[in-house]
Amino acid sequence: MRYVKTVDQILRIMNNIEQIRNVGIIAHVDHGKTTTTDSLLAAAGIISPRLAGQVLAMDFLDVEQRRQMTVKAANISLYHEYEGKPYVINLVDTPGHVDFTGKVTRSLRMIDGAIVVVDAVEGVMTQTETVLRQALEERVRPLLFINKIDRLIKELRLKPDEIKQRFIEIIKEVNNLIETYADPEFKKKWILDPSQGMVAFGSAKDAIGITVPMSRKKGIKIDDIIEAYSSGDKEAIEELKKKIPLHEALLDMVVRFVPNPKEAQMYRIPKIWKGDISTDLGKALMEVDPDGPLVFFVCDMRWDPHAGFVATGRIFSGTLYSGQEVYLVNSKAVQKVLQVGLYMGPYREVVDRIPAGNIAAVLGPDLARSGETIVDLKIKDVIVPFERMRYISEPVVTMA
Ligand code: GDP
Repeated sequence: MRYVKTVDQILRIMNNIEQIRNVGIIAHVDHGKTTTTDSLLAAAGIISPRLAGQVLAMDFLDVEQRRQMTVKAANISLYHEYEGKPYVINLVDTPGHVDFTGKVTRSLRMIDGAIVVVDAVEGVMTQTETVLRQALEERVRPLLFINKIDRLIKELRLKPDEIKQRFIEIIKEVNNLIETYADPEFKKKWILDPSQGMVAFGSAKDAIGITVPMSRKKGIKIDDIIEAYSSGDKEAIEELKKKIPLHEALLDMVVRFVPNPKEAQMYRIPKIWKGDISTDLGKALMEVDPDGPLVFFVCDMRWDPHAGFVATGRIFSGTLYSGQEVYLVNSKAVQKVLQVGLYMGPYREVVDRIPAGNIAAVLGPDLARSGETIVDLKIKDVIVPFERMRYISEPVVTMA
């Protein structure tokens, strides 16, 4: 799939909240998070920098440029079409490992859904369980990608029935965790039903992936994949890469089952924000109101040698635009937004404004630290920040 989109087209999508999805990938170390991300970047439409005055959804990056982006980006906005309709999928970098600085929780605030990657040979491991539990506590909806299925065939030499049994066991284990840790109202709804397409099976290394609905639509069975790997037929694998590309399996799943920001903030705000949801501000946050007061939560601060500090975060309400005066709640400072854009590794696509529901990259409020809440001056005395931080001595930040 080759897409060429202008920034105007992308912005039109970003203004239509039903066409936005904010997601992350979580996995136990070595289960394939990086390889999966790489394969999404290599194949999906990426929203591009300006080139010779023109703006393109990028397809022109070489492998090395794309790789750099995976390493450096706090967020990458992908373009995906499902049943003829375009979507912007913000893929937020979530640390796979567990730490005690609040980084995981912070990045989970940015996303409404997560692709849980599980190595088919290793199964569910401690970090899968810990991060999935945290995600569920933040009301992030999980989807599953069972990766490295080639290993079941090439290394373990399992028979088709045994392979299917293995899939059933992994799904059962993940569903047990969902049943245990999801809030009561989501237990049933979020249980993974593979027949509906909530689970993908594949090999990130070969960029192959399939779900049950995709299998029906394309007439390719899991047995065909097993056969291709058992025989070691390189041509058959190449065919599968074309017919059942991993990005299609994963991004279709995201579009169909990850709630859009409006659906998500309605039930997530009462859980992740400690303010009063019956106030106008509370309503603006739950409704993702682009005309409401600005509330921007900073998940990531990075230093860009060409531009200075870049704050990446989620706009929960209001609209971010350059020239805007904003208040940094934790550092109690007024600063000016100098530039807003989409930040993708080495590239920053500058735009005039970004509305609520999206992930934005901002220059200007350089006193912010990860975890800061940036708001409209008019609500500076009433806002309850998403996170309270205590500054010991600059620039060390600890969480209260
Ligand atoms: P991360 O730690 O979760 O980011 O894992 P990586 O993406 O770095 O993958 C860990 C290792 O597993 C690397 O050596 C990958 O090449 C390998 N790997 C990833 N996906 C697959 C797969 O589908 N099949 C096989 N056999 N190896 C894979």
